[in-house]
Parts: sequence; C-alpha cells; structure tokens
Amino acid sequence: TSTTKAVPPARILAVTNQKGGVGKTTTAVNLSACLAALEQRVLMIDLDPQGNATTGCGVFKREALPTVYQILIGRSTLAEARIRTEFGFDILPANRELAGAEVELIDMERREYRLREALAAAAGDYDYVLMDCPPALNLLTVNGLAAAEAVMIPMQCEYYALEGLTDLVATLKKVRANLNPRLEIEGLLRTMYDPRSTLTQQVSSELESHFGEKVYRSIIPRNVRLAEAPSYGKPVFAFDRNSRGAQAYLALAQEMLDRRAANKEKKA
Ligand code: ADP
Ligand code: MG
Repeated sequence: TSTTKAVPPARILAVTNQKGGVGKTTTAVNLSACLAALEQRVLMIDLDPQGNATTGCGVFKREALPTVYQILIGRSTLAEARIRTEFGFDILPANRELAGAEVELIDMERREYRLREALAAAAGDYDYVLMDCPPALNLLTVNGLAAAEAVMIPMQCEYYALEGLTDLVATLKKVRANLNPRLEIEGLLRTMYDPRSTLTQQVSSELESHFGEKVYRSIIPRNVRLAEAPSYGKPVFAFDRNSRGAQAYLALAQEMLDRRAANKEKKA
C-alpha cells in the first residue's frame, strides 16, 4: 500500500442566483478572503463579464492579461491565467471580453464543460474554488454549474425571494438531469439582512422551514463597510477587519469548515 496521502480535491462551489444585486459578488470576494484567513487554499473565478469580483480584489481588468475567457475558448490554461491577490487567495479574472465567449462557445464541442475540464488540472491546488456567476442562466453560468459540486445561494429576505428560489430549484433539477448529476445545494445565505423588518423575519423563517439545515446559521447583515470595500479594491476583511460585515463573513467561513469536517466524519 502507498503511504502518500491522496490530495483531497477542492470543494468547488458556484455562488449563484439568477437575480442581480443579492450579494453574489460580495459573497464570492469576502468569503474567499475569509477562507484564506482561515488558512484554506482558495481560487476565486470571476464568471461575470462585469468583472466586479476582479476589481473588488484589486486586480485591474487589463485587456492584455489572460482571463477566464481565454480559458473557456481554450487559448490559455488555468496555471497561466490565475493571479495571486494580496489577500492570500488566487483569482481567475474576467473583463468585458467574456461577454463574447457565449457566442464563440456555441459551436465548440462540450461547450458546457470547458471550465470543468480546465479546473480538473488544478483541483489539487486548492481547498475551495468559488465561482462568482452572472445574474442570468447563460452559457457562462452553465459552465459554472457543470463544474461545481454544489451551489451557494445568496439571497435577500424580501417579498419575491422565495418565488425566485423556486425558479432556481427548477433550474438545478434541469442541470442535474442534463449536465451534472452530483450538483447539490451547499447552502442558502441570507444577505443584507435587516432584523428590524417584519417581512425579512417572515421570509427568513419560511426559508428555514422549507430548506432546514441548508440555510446557513451565519447571516450577513446590511453593513456599509461591505458596500465601501470594493471601491478600495479590497475584501472587507482587509479593509475593516472589525466591521460587522467582515466578522459575519468570517463566521460563515468557519461554519463552512465545520460543516465540511462534520460531513467527512459522517462518511468515514
Ligand atoms: P450581485 O453580485 O448578486 O449582483 P453584489 O454583491 O454586487 O450583488 O451586491 C449588490 C450591491 O449591494 C453592491 O453595491 C454591494 O456593495 C452591496 N452589498 C452587498 N452585500 C451587502 C451588505 N451585506 N450590506 C450592504 N451592502 C451590500
Ligand atoms: Mg455580481
């Protein structure tokens, strides 16, 4: 028998919700920084042509750099394109060029699996891979969902949130049937939470009764520091470590690690 330990593969998560403005990008950036602070090896992949996760990490959207676009169309490898941020994690950046990838991918073979195949080579380099998906079910998001083991769903506890979730659950079913049978829900994350609102409390408890354990106990409050940090090109943990936003994402990162350890024990 071999004495070398097998390298545990990365946990690959798509941060997704077809609704815009629910905190996907904020979660991808800040969770990456907090997981890195807890000594996890993290790769964040920006799958949104807006490139907000890229600039939010202080990486400029320079046209000359290879990005996730070059990876999808097979013109670059992950090892060439990833960039080390100053916050202890790697990023695969995106810029507007990525908007064109959809059209170019249409005629390519295995167009839904381009990202998954590119990631396979690097899965041993990381403990977590977090993908920031665009707010639409396009071929970019589909590449993210085909590559992922599970989805993390940030949501605001407001009137239409549960309706949106029904759509998302239907989408996940289709993805499982057609592309990626193992895809699970990693967790639902309540973001921009305002405990003073009665509606928020109602939606939040409905969420818990529908999804039970899948709802993270950690809740991200509405916190102005989280909204300010991107303009400094920093995750909030590097910008104002003691802010409520930073502490909430740190608690979430710890909760994820605890859950993962508990699941491993269950399986062992
Ligand atoms: P998405 O990626 O889902 O479109 P973003 O993460 O870009 O959403 O968030 C939308 C806006 O809300 C951004 O301006 C962001 O800075 C702000 N924001 C996100 N989360 C919070 C929060 N917890 N508190 C305050 N502002 C937030
Ligand atoms: Mg976004």
